[in-house]
Amino acid sequence: MAQSDVDTGQRLRELPSVDEVLRSLANTPLAPLPHWALVAAIRAEIDDLRRDIKAGSPSPTIVEIDPLKRRVEQLMRPSLRPVINATGVVLHTNLGRAPLAESALKFATDLARGYCNLEYELDQRKRGSRHDHIRALLAELTGAEDAVVVNNNAAAVLIALAALAKDKEVIVSRGELIEIGGSFRIPDVMVSSGATLREVGTTNRTHRRDYEDAISDETGLLLKVHPSNYVLSGFTAEVAMAELVSLGKERGIPTMFDLGSGTLLDLGEYGLPREPTVSVVVQAGFDLVTFSGDKLLGGPQAGIIVGSRARVEQIRRHPLMRALRPDKLTLGALEGTLRLYRDQNMLKTVPTLSMLSAKEDDLRQLADEAVETLARRITEGWSVEVTAVESRPGGGSLPEATLPSAAISLSNTQLSLEAIEARLRASDPPIIGRIEEDRFILDLRTVGRSQLRALIDGVVASTAEGGSDEKAG
Ligand SMILES: *Cc1c(COP(=O)(O)O)cnc(C)c1O
Repeated sequence: MAQSDVDTGQRLRELPSVDEVLRSLANTPLAPLPHWALVAAIRAEIDDLRRDIKAGSPSPTIVEIDPLKRRVEQLMRPSLRPVINATGVVLHTNLGRAPLAESALKFATDLARGYCNLEYELDQRKRGSRHDHIRALLAELTGAEDAVVVNNNAAAVLIALAALAKDKEVIVSRGELIEIGGSFRIPDVMVSSGATLREVGTTNRTHRRDYEDAISDETGLLLKVHPSNYVLSGFTAEVAMAELVSLGKERGIPTMFDLGSGTLLDLGEYGLPREPTVSVVVQAGFDLVTFSGDKLLGGPQAGIIVGSRARVEQIRRHPLMRALRPDKLTLGALEGTLRLYRDQNMLKTVPTLSMLSAKEDDLRQLADEAVETLARRITEGWSVEVTAVESRPGGGSLPEATLPSAAISLSNTQLSLEAIEARLRASDPPIIGRIEEDRFILDLRTVGRSQLRALIDGVVASTAEGGSDEKAG
């Protein structure tokens, strides 16, 4: 046996047991930490040491306190965590889309903390339907006859297609066969619903006669889809809403508009691109209109289906409804959000709307304040300045819109932009910024006054640590 093998064997035997390490921690600050986390962390540390020794590295045979502590902290951290969104993307799908209004949250938690009348008719002492709670409110806000809610808009499209067009053809313009982030593709949803896609027109131009020519005994639905995350420009033509609706009525075929990010408010009034509101689309006469709860509406993840009483009822009764129905938390947060749309204050109370409509001057003032404080508190080597940027609505909404905003630009003579980005992402709570051209920026549109303090503290803390992440790129 070679000498090194003897050494390796010897060193492996010297490794402590989990129990020995546990006992050795008795009078250290680690002792009060949860037993399960300590055991898991010690085991992982010993495994690492064993692996290193076997690989011939001269690592010690004792478990050190600092790495152990870091590992315990990591194990104890929940997987889902709040983050500070400083990307400026208001509806950031990866960061949970729409933040909820305070009152909507309270509404939902009050319901969920105890029991509620989810499926109980209080005035009649009998079983009720969860679908009845926000029917009237949605009808009031959209002008539709009836409404039903499912788990998300993908589910809304799926169940609508299954209820109206299973084993039939659904006619869609080629210009609207979209894919949305997270691989929602109209053709794929179509297959899952049991309907058959009948594409008409060309990518850039679709005319009324294209739909007319495609209509047959097999046709179950004329579907219009909001292109959401892209725009057609140049030599283009689409069939107007009213025209499609009248064609459907003439031929006795239902019509549906998947709006994606439906808005209840005319955003044009706030300097954003004009989008037809849900009411306008309902008024155009579509049998069904579907949209998301957590895009421009600013509520919880949900799919909202509004339309004629007969068609909505068809969906409500479909067997898939049992699988796609929302829970009390979603319904509560949605009712809480929708109620805010009844008064004029919604730009203040619905966070998505207030972030989208935040004025550049106000954001600039926030940035000035933040930079002034940071300049005093930040360590040497770092510099901060206010910079003008453009934020985006995100979430497949208003793809062409950019919103003039103000950001903090952060740099360090020793660190690459990637290293700076990684440091802030590792802070607690994580701060998510973006690298743009040759700057690392924290866009204050999505931070707002309410999180400014937390952002500043987080930046100060993560820039204060000495790091080994020297300029890489
Ligand atoms: C976003 C979107 C969907 C999917 O909605 P989710 O609420 O994310 O499920 C479907 N259709 C369109 C047009 C969309 O923009």
